Amino acid sequence: MDVLTNDLSRDRQVRRVVVVGAGLAGSTAAARAAQLGREVVLIDSATDPTAGGNTALSGGGIHVLGADLRADAQVIEERLLSHGWGHTRVPLVDAFVSAAPHARRWLTGAGVRFQPKDGASRQELIPPDTFLEPKRDMTAVHAWPDRGPQQALAKLQQSLERAGGAVRPSARAVELSRNAAGRVDGVVLEGGALIAADAVVLADGGFQANSALLRRFVGPAADRMFLRGAESGTGCGLLMAEAIGARIANPHWFYGHVLHRDVFENDRLWPWPALDGTLLNGAIIVDGRGRRFTDEARGGIHVDNALGWSDDPVGAWVVANARVWASVYESADPVPSNPGLIERGAHVLQAPDGGSLADVAGIDRRGLTATLEAYNGAAENGRTGELPVPRSNGGIALDGDLFAFPAVASITFTMGGIGIDAGARVVDQSGTPVPGLFAAGGAAAGPTAGYIGGLATALIFGYIAGATLGAD
Ligand SMILES: Cc1cc2nc3c(=O)[nH]c(=O)nc-3n(C[C@H](O)[C@H](O)[C@H](O)COP(=O)(O)OP(=O)(O)OC[C@H]3O[C@@H](n4cnc5c(N)ncnc54)[C@H](O)[C@@H]3O)c2cc1C
Repeated sequence: MDVLTNDLSRDRQVRRVVVVGAGLAGSTAAARAAQLGREVVLIDSATDPTAGGNTALSGGGIHVLGADLRADAQVIEERLLSHGWGHTRVPLVDAFVSAAPHARRWLTGAGVRFQPKDGASRQELIPPDTFLEPKRDMTAVHAWPDRGPQQALAKLQQSLERAGGAVRPSARAVELSRNAAGRVDGVVLEGGALIAADAVVLADGGFQANSALLRRFVGPAADRMFLRGAESGTGCGLLMAEAIGARIANPHWFYGHVLHRDVFENDRLWPWPALDGTLLNGAIIVDGRGRRFTDEARGGIHVDNALGWSDDPVGAWVVANARVWASVYESADPVPSNPGLIERGAHVLQAPDGGSLADVAGIDRRGLTATLEAYNGAAENGRTGELPVPRSNGGIALDGDLFAFPAVASITFTMGGIGIDAGARVVDQSGTPVPGLFAAGGAAAGPTAGYIGGLATALIFGYIAGATLGAD
């Protein structure tokens, strides 16, 4: 029995469904609902609905912080809870944990293939058979066409069509339609055409490419971040849902990595290498005044958020010494920053002390010198946790020759968004489901504030949305 088919009385009027966005969340919701007997139209603004969003660009790893979706429920739950970052929605965590193995099994049943278990993988922390086959080369940004993630979307859309559903490319949703009783009864497309339906699923991927929404929800200059994901994430779903009273949850948090600032001119510097590993291994990050502003030991995604929220997401510097820089050589990233940054032509500044480094980098000399003095003193005494801006994992003194890397916050997708319940139903301010409206994937607020896996979240809540719709 499907674990997700209980408590569905609210949606017993559903016959026809429109799904907005054909990434992993939308294609999954559409194929699942169609298999369960719904009449489904999957629309996408792209001319090729397997290529519009982040799914096609992605590395194709469907896991929860390294845990396979078939792992013990307790393992998955622990990983989710360890990334709550102060905002854990327990019902969504529970739904995620119980749906994970079913969603994974269903995906392979739809013909989607994963890499074999013995497939070569540099990333020992991540099981090789969590990657979609054929694995996408993450060392080059343009290497995505026809790799596992895009093939998976093609399979899901074929599965939808086999079940009687339709895929409609070049169709951009701009507004929700509602009937006199307040139930969502269709979407209006750019150009004015209405697609009528008994329920709508918003799966348009988030708002990483909408400058106004980034400034409104993330930070005063968040639109200056480097866009490390698809340009299709313009927040249409969020705006449509908000216009009819949906709750917007945690829109502050986003997924991204701290990148080298040369990335604006050099395509070889994304999606990797990132400076995250350098920070984790002991480097510090400072603003243009030479001041630390966050706990580097909390990991690159956390640091990236702090930088993205600041008033200058493009003006930071990562400062390391030779020991820290050498230690990232062995990092498990698809492209370790050392030697990746050098090999890919990023510029790195070097100087014998903090004052000289500040001068060559254009960082405030007094500020950086004072920061290094306080930081090194604390590190030597094992007391970086007591600094005004604490570093939680001890840290090491940055002595000897110093390196400075110009840094920029990057955004891959937004992790907050449209509020949903455990059945992927969109909720209003009071937590009551908005009749006829669902959301999943990057468009919806996930179970936690921290990053737990974008593809896993898209798959699982897409699967839950499809199951909820199909249970009528
Ligand atoms: C370089 C890179 C690497 C990544 N690697 C991984 C990884 O290995 N593992 C992992 O877990 N996550 C990874 N991610 C994140 C992951 O790709 C996303 O979290 C996930 O694909 C989100 O799926 P989605 O279906 O919600 O959105 P998307 O895949 O972005 O799909 C949204 C779709 O909606 C369409 N759309 C947008 N607006 C409209 C509209 N108004 N009307 C109609 N259609 C619309 C778009 O064209 C698009 O096709 C990576 C992302 C990037 C960019």
